[in-house]
Amino acid sequence: MSFSAEAPNQRLLTEFRAAEDPHSDYDRAVTEIPTPPFADFDSARRFHGLLQLFLREVKTPGEPVSLHAFLLTHALARHAPHPATGGCADCGPPYPCATVLTVAALSRFPAPWTPVTLIAAMKAVRLLTPDRVPSRSTTFFGLLDSDPQISAEKEEHSGAWIIHVVERGQDRPVRLADDDAFVDHLLDMTRTNAFPFGWGIPEGWVPAVRPGVDAAREWWREHEALPYMSTHRDEGAP
Ligand SMILES: [Zn+2]
Repeated sequence: MSFSAEAPNQRLLTEFRAAEDPHSDYDRAVTEIPTPPFADFDSARRFHGLLQLFLREVKTPGEPVSLHAFLLTHALARHAPHPATGGCADCGPPYPCATVLTVAALSRFPAPWTPVTLIAAMKAVRLLTPDRVPSRSTTFFGLLDSDPQISAEKEEHSGAWIIHVVERGQDRPVRLADDDAFVDHLLDMTRTNAFPFGWGIPEGWVPAVRPGVDAAREWWREHEALPYMSTHRDEGAP
């Protein structure tokens, strides 16, 4: 990653004085996580870098970077925003593509989503059904146009969201307390039945792959010990 060599975007760099917090005696600088649609390429690139950094931060200090985190970061690197188009470098426009958005959603990357921004990003990559006619409503959304058909409606007086789940003509509504609960529900909607989790594993498949496990572990032990990787052992959220 070459992001750190670049000057931070001052519009998105917020510094606040410790004087505002009587329990703190140091200054902190916080870079906000931008959300799509991005104002410029720099914002998209920052979203991508912060997501990849977040996946490292999920580990605790002292713990080596896992092979799985390493592989996920490499897969995501193929789906970075492209400087010429602003879209995903692998899938084409838009960025974030469905792959990046799924990882951001399921990992609970702490982007400041609102129902409007998250639904727009999901519809743009067909994680939700795109609108046939552009809608400007912020209180009613068609989410999935299949069976079940799912839509969401905000109760103006309470701030709650009613999710209408209509299956074979029958509505089974679900009530969510507020915008945060609705966003959480939307993040969960990116989950798929990805093999092998929740699946029966065909006979003979485990023995087919197991002979490679020792070599993979051995390669990873050596690679993780390289200086550029081993310095990350001390990093991570306590
Ligand atoms: Zn992509």
